[in-house]
Amino acid sequence: MPSASARKIDRVAFDPDGLINRARGAYLGLAIGDALGATVEFMTPREIAHVHGQHKDIQGGGWLNLKPGQITDDTEMSLALGNAILLEGGFRAKTIAQAFDGWLKTKPVDVGHTVRRGIVRFRTDGSTHAKEDEYDAGNGAVMRALPVALATLGASDEDGARAAKLQAHVTHNAPLADLGLLAVVRMVQRAMMNSAKAYGDMLKIAHALAAQSAHYDFTKKPQLNPSGFLPDTLRAVFQAFARTDGFEAALIEVVNRGGDADTTGAILGYIAGALYGAKAIPSRWLTALDVKVHDACEEQALQLLELSPILSGKAVRFIPD
Ligand code: MN
Ligand code: MN
Repeated sequence: MPSASARKIDRVAFDPDGLINRARGAYLGLAIGDALGATVEFMTPREIAHVHGQHKDIQGGGWLNLKPGQITDDTEMSLALGNAILLEGGFRAKTIAQAFDGWLKTKPVDVGHTVRRGIVRFRTDGSTHAKEDEYDAGNGAVMRALPVALATLGASDEDGARAAKLQAHVTHNAPLADLGLLAVVRMVQRAMMNSAKAYGDMLKIAHALAAQSAHYDFTKKPQLNPSGFLPDTLRAVFQAFARTDGFEAALIEVVNRGGDADTTGAILGYIAGALYGAKAIPSRWLTALDVKVHDACEEQALQLLELSPILSGKAVRFIPD
């Protein structure tokens, strides 16, 4: 008689080697997209074309004057969130808020406005939930959402959504942003359960989001120069994902659209990395990435996967504050 967890694993055509390749691909993809995009963050496509032709190498610089291979808040906050999840063996808002606070104390190279406000609120009154505000629909909680997608792989939809929103609401609490967040987490999780239909199913999730809210309709005009407003960001991400058929092409497509390019790069990096896997990442990008960041991403990808219901056979743990 197989155990309950073994039966669950059978249902999804369990493929540990593939799963590990895709988890590593997602986490390295996040950091690579961040490092690649940061060079052209806040530039327009025309400015990028003038300076770089097509921007396709990790070279640092940009408005943050980064070292080649250096990453920004998108990857750093993801690693902070991942650490908090691993520390608790699950999700506790207070531990996540403390991890974000600890990160802010390291004087990061960049911090989003809504992120800073949320962390300062936690410092001031200890609260771990931002008040709902429709103007908080920035991309800051989605850029760091990958650890949730990995740690809740194989969980019920309810637990996955609860975990995603728990981390988001520490700083960002807008229903419009939650919709985009949940769609992105579902896309990554669909990619992780690889099959010939994965890419088509991921696009279906993006189209379903567009049908749910016109803000996310990416089928109309090309989204160039995307802002940090999550619908803008995700329209650029989905268009680049839909127009390309590989990791490298997808990332080059999205970062050359400029705007919040480190964040479109980070989000598409983890979505496409989950689908195409670490083996599809060009070696020039892997070697250009800061080696400490590279190792931290690899380690967290595996540890979060081990914690996930699909590998542990246990439900996601939620720990009250
Ligand atoms: Mn950034
Ligand atoms: Mn950004």
